Amino acid sequence: MNQTAEKMEPPRKILRDALKASDLVEEGREAYAAIKALYPICRSITGDGIRQSLRLLQNTVPLVLHEIPSGTPVFDWFVPKEWNIRDAYIKDDKGERVVDFQRSNLHVLNYSLPVRRKMSLTELRPHLFTLPETPDWIPYRTSYYRETWGFCLSKTQLDRMEEGEYEVCIDSSLEPGYLTYGEYRIQGATEEEVLLSCHACHPSLCNDNLSGMTVAARLARFLKGVSLRYSYRLLWIPGTIGSITWLARNEDLLPRIKHGLVLSCVGDSGSFTYKRSRRRDAEVDQAVEHVLSHSGRKFEALDFVPYGYDERQYCSPGINLPVGCFMRTPNGRYPQYHTSADDLTLVSASSLGESLLQLLRVIQVFEENRRYLNLNPKCEPQLGRRGLYRQMGGIKDAGAREMAILWVLNLSDGQHDLLDIAIRSGLPFEQVSGVVDALKEAELLLSTE
Ligand code: ZN
Repeated sequence: MNQTAEKMEPPRKILRDALKASDLVEEGREAYAAIKALYPICRSITGDGIRQSLRLLQNTVPLVLHEIPSGTPVFDWFVPKEWNIRDAYIKDDKGERVVDFQRSNLHVLNYSLPVRRKMSLTELRPHLFTLPETPDWIPYRTSYYRETWGFCLSKTQLDRMEEGEYEVCIDSSLEPGYLTYGEYRIQGATEEEVLLSCHACHPSLCNDNLSGMTVAARLARFLKGVSLRYSYRLLWIPGTIGSITWLARNEDLLPRIKHGLVLSCVGDSGSFTYKRSRRRDAEVDQAVEHVLSHSGRKFEALDFVPYGYDERQYCSPGINLPVGCFMRTPNGRYPQYHTSADDLTLVSASSLGESLLQLLRVIQVFEENRRYLNLNPKCEPQLGRRGLYRQMGGIKDAGAREMAILWVLNLSDGQHDLLDIAIRSGLPFEQVSGVVDALKEAELLLSTE
């Protein structure tokens, strides 16, 4: 070991200090810029679209691409054939593209089989999908596990199509290939892990998929620059089959996962929503609800239901990881969900930055939450004599700091960790955790972990 070189490397900040020094507005702008770059790509659960998207994210963080062959058994499933698409259209009898994949990749039913033929509008209709209630929006539809083909278009477009003959072309392929997912692991002081997972399989949809993908990438970049207690594993995977595949390949390391979050829909301007893990009272559940209750914004906590994103797999009974789902407006609860209106105007840099901030605060709880023991438990120790009282006098929020000291001393009986103390006292976690060093220095507190 070259000691000089080691000395020259600046010590890594702990998360608390890095968070104070960071510019989350700028982080939000970077995430938004990444969404803009990813938006045009036609992603799916397999194929070059997801590959290309993961490679783009490598500009932010050097994630690893894993390629799993089609046909690989993963629990009760098989890795599907790989789907790729180059072009698709419906041409009228004048040769004009009335539906054009080049204008929006949502126009193709995702996973459509190749097709090239002439047909009447009547024959074509069963293969056309619209949204009559919002006639200018294109729906997003998939058919991963039933081999068929189709087009999605606005109701307005369909209404303009007259009876007659149409030339239909989907230049796609569905062949043995690979399922691709992205993974990035950051080594912390321990092998215990925090899992952060997002789906990366939707085509041009911003809030549903791109917001989670880019916020996860910013998070990874942030975390790799700080000194950490936990190791962090981030996954960018195709929804459902991706988490099933990852879980089937990594069953041996599941006991290491102490906390986890699925990230989705984190770019819209709605308030925060947290969907609890199946366990309901895992540390992650308490941490997220605590952080959001101090976010200054209203938020909603929902109980686990076996529907939604990949928490369905992480929280299946034989896996049962402490994984919740962090969102702003949840799937299905905003009108633009799974339509062409989930576009670049629905998400914003400020919402992305704010989501990132709350997530980092949750991670700060993971990093700093510990159990301590009050070494002077018989009556209150004399704080003034130890310089703790005077230290309080000079600071603006001395009252809160004093309360935090009293709470930490009172509840550090070996039964309560700092998060318990924060929840019971109503003080923000960072306030509670922020007095620990001073109490340790005064030899009033001892870590029991
Ligand atoms: Zn979706």
